[in-house]
Amino acid sequence: MSIKVDPGFIKDLTAFGLSDANKCMHCGNCTAVCPLSENDTTFPRKLIKYAQMGMKEKILQSPEPWLCYYCGECSDTCPRGADPGEFMMVMRRYLTSLYDWTGFARKFYTSKIFELTAVIVVAVIVGLLLVIFRADNPNMKHAYLNSVWPAGAIEIADLIMASVLSILLLSNTFRCAKFVMGDLLFKVPLRLYLRNAWELVVHFFTQKRFNKCTDRTQWFVHLMIMTGYATAFMLVAVFLAGGIHVIGLSSEHLMFQRDIEYPIYHPWRLLGYYATFAIMYGTTYAIIGRLKKEKAPYKNSHGTDWMFLILLQLTTITGIFIHFTRLLDWPMTTYVLYVIHLMVAVPMLVLEVPFAKWAHLAFRPVTSFLVKVREDFRSNPGSTV
Ligand code: SF4
Ligand code: SF4
Repeated sequence: MSIKVDPGFIKDLTAFGLSDANKCMHCGNCTAVCPLSENDTTFPRKLIKYAQMGMKEKILQSPEPWLCYYCGECSDTCPRGADPGEFMMVMRRYLTSLYDWTGFARKFYTSKIFELTAVIVVAVIVGLLLVIFRADNPNMKHAYLNSVWPAGAIEIADLIMASVLSILLLSNTFRCAKFVMGDLLFKVPLRLYLRNAWELVVHFFTQKRFNKCTDRTQWFVHLMIMTGYATAFMLVAVFLAGGIHVIGLSSEHLMFQRDIEYPIYHPWRLLGYYATFAIMYGTTYAIIGRLKKEKAPYKNSHGTDWMFLILLQLTTITGIFIHFTRLLDWPMTTYVLYVIHLMVAVPMLVLEVPFAKWAHLAFRPVTSFLVKVREDFRSNPGSTV
């Protein structure tokens, strides 16, 4: 079988943040120290070799970039300062751009101007829509969001956004699965996928592989950001959207944009507090880490790393402010903050979930699951559909 080689490949990767990989002399130390490199999936040295040789196809078929959690142990011990951990991060950005069939992710990752412009354009559109479609007579005595933007309209917009994002993310995840599994994707019997489905759930919710790394704090911070974000996303995108029609609730029972606060012990309110705390803790830790640059995973920051953290933290902070201005019953401040909140939250969702950093929430557990399925299939060569 012939293998295509692209001599300009490593140069192309510099646009995704690659800097030191050419220093690698292939001593193999990084693969030896990596706590997650095992069996048929050894990394990171193998992938550095592929990149240096211009073997783009090989990288496209590799699940390994998603099996690395960027603990930084390999970078800390590389004798050449080739920063293999950052190389794996670059691979994830690069693969995200290849999985994305729209071509948007590539532009987002390779041009700071495009990234910034995209965020500003989406934010301005959201702000304008909220100003144009506000009600004529908002309640100025009490902070009632539904008196300015009726819950039904917000629900429809939310449902449309959630559907488009799901289609984009699922189609990109399918492409990821197709590249990683190749012909095996449809050859593997369904029962093997079902038998290993638990792996998908476990990897998504616990990130248990990350826990094998020496620096457990990194795992904990990652887990906090992921669970906080997933909780907030479920509350907003799923429960708000499903509130009225699926469960047959009226607008005052809506789970998110509602004008009467739940009691403090209500599960939705407690989940909201958990999401807020988890995101603030995780993002503050990561921002301080990136400013200090002491730990390997925080030494090199791509523009998209900053954008992700800033949007996530601003969304949370404006959400906290709104919570208090509603409790204080300050109508105008609440309405203005709500517009600002959505001008930050929507670009974060629309741009980050299918095209940038958040996409790894899907790619990483799916790839870990597929590796398990593939191993299972190969250890049972007699398996048929
Ligand atoms: S430890 Fe450094 S020099 Fe050695 S193989 Fe890994 S990246 Fe290359
Ligand atoms: S950053 Fe950690 S998990 Fe990733 S390759 Fe290096 S040692 Fe392995």
